Amino acid sequence: MSIHDNLQTLKQNIENACKRAKRDPSDITIIGVTKYVSIERTIELLDAGIVDVGENRTDEMLRKYEAIGDRARWHFIGTLQSRKVKDIIGKVSMIHSLERLSVAKQINKRSDETIPCFVQVNVSGEESKHGLHPDEVHEFIDQLKAYEKVKVVGLMTMAPHTDDENVIRGVFRKLRLLRDEIRSKNLPHAPCEYLSMGMSNDYEIAIEEGATHIRIGSVLVG
Ligand SMILES: *Cc1c(COP(=O)(O)O)cnc(C)c1O
Repeated sequence: MSIHDNLQTLKQNIENACKRAKRDPSDITIIGVTKYVSIERTIELLDAGIVDVGENRTDEMLRKYEAIGDRARWHFIGTLQSRKVKDIIGKVSMIHSLERLSVAKQINKRSDETIPCFVQVNVSGEESKHGLHPDEVHEFIDQLKAYEKVKVVGLMTMAPHTDDENVIRGVFRKLRLLRDEIRSKNLPHAPCEYLSMGMSNDYEIAIEEGATHIRIGSVLVG
């Protein structure tokens, strides 16, 4: 299937999920995850109309950025080491994986602009997954106040690998409730409006549970 056809199917499914949830499809940002594919395939994705592109490794993001530049909006979705922060500053539009103060400190030191960040939460508690324990999120976000270049725009999670839809839904719902708690504090540095959740296998459930940013790789670029 061409990316164009994949995108049509994806958009139709998003629309249907939005109907079920009584949501507006324009509130959902599709981030095309290009970590598996070439620069050529990434350009095909842009030609098909996608603007937001996600990468999970700094070296690969930089390689693609050199070829493509600001034609795409670059989202960093992988584990970020503090010493690599300087490499992506000025290029990245959003960081989805903030989970350490050392990274926030580097963002603050290296960036002239405020960087919109999602705090990554390990809702499912799987050991293999990155992110903060839900109980740690409030305190972490309070501490981020010290880093004025970091703006907490939302929370991010990855659902566990399971076919049990109820388990996946429960994880997404928990992230939404946590988002609601933080948003209701009206913190100037952490408006926390957004939810980055949902991948190829579970984006429809994520949308039903409130996702605003879905990160889609395999069903889009193959
Ligand atoms: C790879 C990746 C995705 C996309 O995964 P697919 O299942 O291919 O859609 C989304 N989010 C993160 C953090 C990823 O690493």
